[in-house]
Amino acid sequence: MIPGRPLRWMVTHVIDITGQNPAYRLTHRHHLEFPRVLPQCQLNLDSMNQTSATIDWHDALDLGPATVLTGIERGKYPHGNSVLVTGTNERVLIDPSLTVAELGRSFEVDRIFLSHVHEDHIPGMSLFPTVPVSCHEADAVGLTSIDGLMSMYGLPSEIEEEFRQEVLDDFSYAPRPDVSTFTDRASFDLGKVSIEVVHTPGHTRGHCAFVIPEARAAFLGDIELSGFGPYYFDACSSLESFERSIEICGQIDADHFVTFHHKWVISGRELFLEMLRDFARVITERESAMLRFMSEPKSIEECAAHRFVYRPSVDLKFVRHVETRSAQIHIDRMLKDGRILKATESSYRAA
Ligand SMILES: [Zn+2]
Repeated sequence: MIPGRPLRWMVTHVIDITGQNPAYRLTHRHHLEFPRVLPQCQLNLDSMNQTSATIDWHDALDLGPATVLTGIERGKYPHGNSVLVTGTNERVLIDPSLTVAELGRSFEVDRIFLSHVHEDHIPGMSLFPTVPVSCHEADAVGLTSIDGLMSMYGLPSEIEEEFRQEVLDDFSYAPRPDVSTFTDRASFDLGKVSIEVVHTPGHTRGHCAFVIPEARAAFLGDIELSGFGPYYFDACSSLESFERSIEICGQIDADHFVTFHHKWVISGRELFLEMLRDFARVITERESAMLRFMSEPKSIEECAAHRFVYRPSVDLKFVRHVETRSAQIHIDRMLKDGRILKATESSYRAA
């Protein structure tokens, strides 16, 4: 989900430098209580009128009609946690991860749903080239062509070329111009089990959460509750939309909240709401830090160089791009609401 973070940099350099993925600084503030983990999930579908297919997944999590296909390192980028939802008539795979792609096709699915179109949410689709795929209409452009996907990131050309190749090679990107689309509040009946779409834009324009009422579960995609905070730095991202989507997530009625990366499964609504508040607070803390920094006039370039997103120790090509995007986004917003003023043609200061 982070633009310009080709795997070779992320996995080798970053972890070498910082000991962790820069995108996901786990805070360890939260103690999670996990539901039942099946050491070897053998979901027998005979009882659900399906074919005799069973899934064989090393650490699946059973939430009744929803099964979390836990990704390598609990979905640490470039991996992720996918979800399989099984009804009496149909079975849907949500966000087929790189782990799904690597472990191979051990189960059948009737449809694929995507929370949004980003490189790490689609690699497992390569195992199901003829299975119908659906995403929100605002993200469909990312599936119609690699150019469409690249337009969603909006990377500078010096980064884009290498990243485009990684998306093709490492994430098995293949265009699916046959993608069908859904909109907010769409509901799909899989037979005694349903999936409800909740449009939660911000990370991308078409980002959606999925609620599976019969499992008391919600899949949150990249509203991933990590200490890094919301990621809203792509060309098709929106900070304001992300903030509204966080509020919408706070109203979801479920007991289990599944994130694609890292946090994996949060059980208990109170804990989830606390983590959601912490996640949102990253934005307000970023703006407070910028305001302190801007007690003297500062340019966008100075804000980007100071870094309000990544730690100073992170030395990667895309950091400058993301920091500049972030500085621009927050300066625009704080200028508009009067928290900062234009000091000179190219600098700003706290009001
Ligand atoms: Zn993403």
